[in-house]
Amino acid sequence: MIATVVIDAVLSNDDKVFDYIIPAELAEKVYVGSRVMVPFGPRDTEGFVLGIKETTDFDKGKLKAIQKSPDEFVAIKPEFIEILDDTCAKFCLRKIDVIRLFVPSTVRGRKRTRKVENKELKSLEIHDKQITLTKHQQDVISKITTANNTFVLHGVTGSGKTEVYMNVIKRALESGKTAIMLVPEIGLTPQVLGNFRTRFGDNVAMIHSGLSPTERYDQWLTLHNGQAKIVIGARSAIFAPMENVGIIIIDEEHDTSYFSESNPRFYTHEVAKLRARFNACPLVLGSATPSIETMHKATMGEYTLLTLDRRVNNLEMPKVTVICMADEIRAGHGGVFSRALLAKLDKTIEEKKQAMIFLNRRGFSSYVMCKGCGWVARCDNCDVSLVYHKDDGQLKCHYCPSRFTVPKRCQQCSGTHLKYGAVGTQKLVEELSTIFPNIPIFRLDADNTKTKDSLIEILSNFAKTTPSILVGTQMIAKGHHFPHVNVVGIVDADNSLHFSDYRAVERTFALITQVSGRAGREGHEGSVYIQTYMPNHYVYRLAANYDYNKFFERELNTRITTKFPPFTTIVRILVTGEVDRPIKDLIQRVMTKLRERIGDFVYLGAMKSPLGRIQNKFRYQILCRFAREKESDIINFVNGILKGENVSKGTFMFMEINPQNLS
Ligand code: ADP
Ligand code: ZN
Ligand code: ZN
Repeated sequence: MIATVVIDAVLSNDDKVFDYIIPAELAEKVYVGSRVMVPFGPRDTEGFVLGIKETTDFDKGKLKAIQKSPDEFVAIKPEFIEILDDTCAKFCLRKIDVIRLFVPSTVRGRKRTRKVENKELKSLEIHDKQITLTKHQQDVISKITTANNTFVLHGVTGSGKTEVYMNVIKRALESGKTAIMLVPEIGLTPQVLGNFRTRFGDNVAMIHSGLSPTERYDQWLTLHNGQAKIVIGARSAIFAPMENVGIIIIDEEHDTSYFSESNPRFYTHEVAKLRARFNACPLVLGSATPSIETMHKATMGEYTLLTLDRRVNNLEMPKVTVICMADEIRAGHGGVFSRALLAKLDKTIEEKKQAMIFLNRRGFSSYVMCKGCGWVARCDNCDVSLVYHKDDGQLKCHYCPSRFTVPKRCQQCSGTHLKYGAVGTQKLVEELSTIFPNIPIFRLDADNTKTKDSLIEILSNFAKTTPSILVGTQMIAKGHHFPHVNVVGIVDADNSLHFSDYRAVERTFALITQVSGRAGREGHEGSVYIQTYMPNHYVYRLAANYDYNKFFERELNTRITTKFPPFTTIVRILVTGEVDRPIKDLIQRVMTKLRERIGDFVYLGAMKSPLGRIQNKFRYQILCRFAREKESDIINFVNGILKGENVSKGTFMFMEINPQNLS
């Protein structure tokens, strides 16, 4: 017999498979999906069997034989073989790129030498009770469990979506099937795991970026051999190797972490759709603020819309107050916190409750600038300014690992009047500690949660300390359920509005809704204070009224007028490399070809990316917009042009459809 094998090595841009003879002694060990060792060039290389056939078009005498089939299991399950080609086509990836998503690195590359230890993943202990489903929840559950559609579950924060997920998962398990539940990486809290462990015990495996390779392999294997029937994980868990999937859930479906922005680039929803189709199972996209694209598909009938528009137990949504910071300054109050927020914090502390203060900027201050000449401290390797981190007394780059000492004088004019930029989380903690010297102030951001254990420690300390205040970045926005939090302050709401990106307003709306949703989740009134310099912006008015539907309508109209998705398709072609000239030439050549070969496209430019250099690599990009063509035609067309280009070593070129990030 003959096996067609894809080689696991970076050969070139092409996507070949090779024929190998299956020797008689391996006949019982080589299957479609098996990992094999085959002679390739001067040495043995790893590959994966994609097909088995009786004959070959090649001269059989010249074919080489498979040397080994090292695993006790088939690495790529039939479902993945089935969706391989579609996945490649959707994201312009080579077979081996996609297989690397299917099969973790611990299985590939003979990296697995140590024995697997069954390490218990840490979760927060949950007691939080007996629950009787509401009528609304029951309705939603029965709809999901009776049709294999793609559902959009639009439910306000605290409306009991998680409870719905757990129930549909329970039903899937009862009918002998498995379940995939995805949450954003930062929403993957010990609380979530705790909840699922309490309900489903050892049936739950967890996949996220904080696992060591051994832990990841362990989790993968328990799913692969059917020991665990539920996976909870960040986006890569969509490739969990379970069979007979009965339900796929993507919680906080609008979250940008579902787009992989490093190679291989993919969009989780699209893979989920392929898997749901293969398994003939429902797919649930849940959110309090579904993305404009997702909601558009629901209104067009492609997805089925389900709504939970009230909090459970008829709890009120928190009351939102929008505060104009310009007014504060005019009234002589120049601090970071408005008078209203401070007064509310006072009261909260007096009542022995808790507050959460949200600011999407970590560090102490966003930049250091010379007042004399305007010099700004910048990274040596990236075109960005450095962020001051008072904790470590360093200037840090947020795009690469570079660290610098804090200058005492300007490096341009030697002046000593240095100005510190916009405040970050560290500075907020310092300010709050001065205002409330006897109250514990916790901080949660990427700088102090490098390990899952530190995350658990901060969260559980906050949970058991009243009164107290938690300051954090968007890490505090998602999923948390702290019963004693009755006030939420959003310090610099405009921060995310200022991105030059057609999704900036949508993201701001989602973020405000998420953060606000942390307040008043159990029995008492919650309040939210949004501090802004643009109090009349519609995003604040509509977020304050929880009016998602009006927001959606308005945003959709804007997309029509400005010709942005979902009414057009935006393609970004990005080229990066260490030497400026060749990549500049490359992007120009691609631009010329694009221009020559198509008439009807709006061209947004070939230029240095807004972030012109990251980690010492120059970045150039083309943004173009297609108004009419089908997405798959666009992918084929652009991919055809890119494949025809010779890309030198050390240069990377790729395209993205409707990119999440334009810089
Ligand atoms: P969401 O995911 O929509 O934000 P959750 O599922 O976390 O909402 O529910 C919010 C809170 O309400 C949780 O503490 C949850 O245990 C509780 N809850 C959910 N459904 C019910 C119910 N039917 N009866 C009582 N409490 C419920
Ligand atoms: Zn200066
Ligand atoms: Zn840098």
